[in-house]
Amino acid sequence: MPPTSSSSALPKVKISPRGAARLKSGHVWVYRSDIVSADGVLPGSVVTVADQRGKLLGTALYSSSSQIAIRMISREPVADFPALLRLRIAAAIAYRAQVVRDTDAYRVVSSEADLLPGLIVDRYNDIVSLQILTQAMDGKLARDAVVSELTHRMNPASIVERVDPRVRELEKLPPRPSDLLHGDETSTIFTMNGVRFHYDALEGQKTGAFLDQRENYAAAAQYARGEALDVFCYQGGFALHLAPRCEHVTGVDSSRPALEIADENGALNHRDVEWIEANAFDLLKDYSAANRRYDAIVLDPPAFAKTKRDLDSAMRGYKELNLRTLKMLRHGGIVVTCSCSHHVSQSSFLEMLSAAALDAHRTLRLIEVRSQARDHPILLSVPETAYLKCVIAAVS
Ligand code: SAH
Repeated sequence: MPPTSSSSALPKVKISPRGAARLKSGHVWVYRSDIVSADGVLPGSVVTVADQRGKLLGTALYSSSSQIAIRMISREPVADFPALLRLRIAAAIAYRAQVVRDTDAYRVVSSEADLLPGLIVDRYNDIVSLQILTQAMDGKLARDAVVSELTHRMNPASIVERVDPRVRELEKLPPRPSDLLHGDETSTIFTMNGVRFHYDALEGQKTGAFLDQRENYAAAAQYARGEALDVFCYQGGFALHLAPRCEHVTGVDSSRPALEIADENGALNHRDVEWIEANAFDLLKDYSAANRRYDAIVLDPPAFAKTKRDLDSAMRGYKELNLRTLKMLRHGGIVVTCSCSHHVSQSSFLEMLSAAALDAHRTLRLIEVRSQARDHPILLSVPETAYLKCVIAAVS
C-alpha cells in the first residue's frame, strides 16, 4: 500500500538489515543497535520505519531511551494513532469476551500481545487498572484515547493508573503518582473460579493479583488433596483454590503485607489456611530436614532470571526448590511448579525438573504442561510474550 500523505509526514527511522530481518520474521521490536538514523525524532513519536534503501516497513512507536527503540504498531502507514488505539482496545475487549470464563478479573490489554506496545490494562470487577510503559503511550493524546475508550466500552466504576516508577525512570518520563483517572472507587472484591479476593488499586505488587495464573489455579485444584503447601503464595491465589479440596493448606511468603491480605482473603472465603512468613529457601530446607511430608506442593517463585545473564543462577535456584519439594512429597503426591521468566524456555524448565527428579530419586508423571491464562495472549512471532510455565505432575 502506498503511504498516505499524513503517514509520510511522520518522522522516519531507518533501520539496519538485521533490524529489518527481525521485523520480516514477524517480531515487533527493533533494538537501538539496529537504528541507522533517527534524526530529529522526538521521544515517544509515532514514526515510519524504513530499511536502509528507504523501503517502508510500517509504523512504530519510538523510544529515545529504551534499548527497544522501535515497537511496531502496524505494517501499514498509520494516519491517526489515537483512532488506531481505540480500534485495538475494542478488539482486545472483544477477544476477552471470546476466551475468558468464570471470572470478573482478567487482563484486558496485554501490551505487544494485543498490538498495543506499552499498555497494560486489567479489570478487577468494576475497577479498571492501567499501566503505561512507553514514552509514546504516555503522550496526552494516547492517554486520552485509552481512558475514553475504556470508559466507553467497559463502563467501570473507576480507572486507576498504577505507576511503576522504575519503568518511568528507564523511559526518561517524569515521575507521577499512581492515581485515579476516572471515578473514585479504589477497592473492590473480585471473583475468579468462584474464589473471592480483595483488591486495592493503590496497594499491592504488580497490578494487584497474578491474573496470568487464574486458569492454573483451577487446574491445580482439580488434582490436589490432603495436606498442601503453597510456596510463594502472595495473597493466596493457589492456596485458596486448593483449600476446598484439601484437608490442610499452608501458604508461605516472605512478604508480610501480602500475607495480611491472604489472611483477609481466607476469611472472605470462610477458609482456614495457615499463613507463614518465611524465606522459602530456608523453610523448604528446614522442613525437608525435619522430614515433613505433603500431598501437594505449589512452587510459584518470582522471576529469578530477569536477564539472560542471570540464567545459570536462576536455573540453580529453580533446581534447588524443585529438588527439595519433590523429596517432601508423599507417594502419589502432586507438584505444581511454575516459572514466570521468559528467558527460561519450556524445554529448559522441563529439563531442570527432570534433573531435580533424578537427584531426588523420584519418578514424575506429567499431568499438565500449562502456560499463562488466555487473556495474556502469546504471539507466536514474539517469543517474549510466552513467559509463564506451570507444570503439574504426579510424584512417585
Ligand atoms: N503464587 C502467587 C504469586 C507469587 S509471586 C499467586 O498466584 O498470587 C512471587 C511471590 O514470592 C511474592 O509474593 C513475593 O513476596 C514472594 N517471594 C519472593 N522471594 C521470596 C522468598 N525468598 N521467600 C518467600 N517468598 C518470596
